[in-house]
Amino acid sequence: MKIIDPHMHMVSRTTDDYLALALGGIHTIAEPAFWPGFDRSGVASFHDYFNQLTVSEPARAARFKVRHYCWIGMNAKEAENLTLSEEVLAILPKYLDRPTALGIGEVGLNKNSRNEIRIFELQVALAAERGELLLIHTPHLEDKLKGTRIIMDILRNEPRIVAQRVLIDHAEEHTIAEIKDNGFWSGLTLYPDSKGSPARAVDALEVFGPERICINSSADWSVSDPLATLKTVNEMRRRGYPEPSIKRVFHDNPREFLSQCPKFSVA
Ligand SMILES: [Zn+2]
Repeated sequence: MKIIDPHMHMVSRTTDDYLALALGGIHTIAEPAFWPGFDRSGVASFHDYFNQLTVSEPARAARFKVRHYCWIGMNAKEAENLTLSEEVLAILPKYLDRPTALGIGEVGLNKNSRNEIRIFELQVALAAERGELLLIHTPHLEDKLKGTRIIMDILRNEPRIVAQRVLIDHAEEHTIAEIKDNGFWSGLTLYPDSKGSPARAVDALEVFGPERICINSSADWSVSDPLATLKTVNEMRRRGYPEPSIKRVFHDNPREFLSQCPKFSVA
């Protein structure tokens, strides 16, 4: 089985992880630009990060025969700093033009603050102007439903945004139906230590159906598992799903969404 993981932060992972991905059949991945676990001190750090995402990380992945794509954007956490955010927004087009950059992401909301909303709106406008795909980060825990609704309102208010070109990530049972009803894609994130288990993800697939859903590991610098998608494949097999149904979720769906960017192709 060949797998596409549409959300992994590989700059935080080791070459052992790349080898494990390759051995497990996870041959294509996409890395969203995100918060590194600390606030960066200036726009120069973003130049370095976007260069890492578009130049050195694809080369590192290629050594293990893993195809690496990325998303470019100003994350919600650092968007609280408006001055820095405006400087970062100004450099986004340069990196969005790079050959492996698939669109703007992950952008969205973290605490649903006024500053986050302002910077998200500007990035939605940039996506509309350039015809970019969008990968959206939604807040965690109690802020999630409210944040998801604010995000969908902003997206619907921009008439040039096409819903099927937007993936709203970190969706949960209480947000998936609204996301799908509005025509967007939803992403389910697997977490090893909290409740985002393979069993819960497969339960959600059974309730909401496999249409316009992608499953990802979101593996990053914190507690996370780059092989979480494989474990979910195993859970589907354990429940008796035929291989084409499993392939649809872990290969065909992410391929369909990401292929809307002409730069994307699978190995
Ligand atoms: Zn992420």
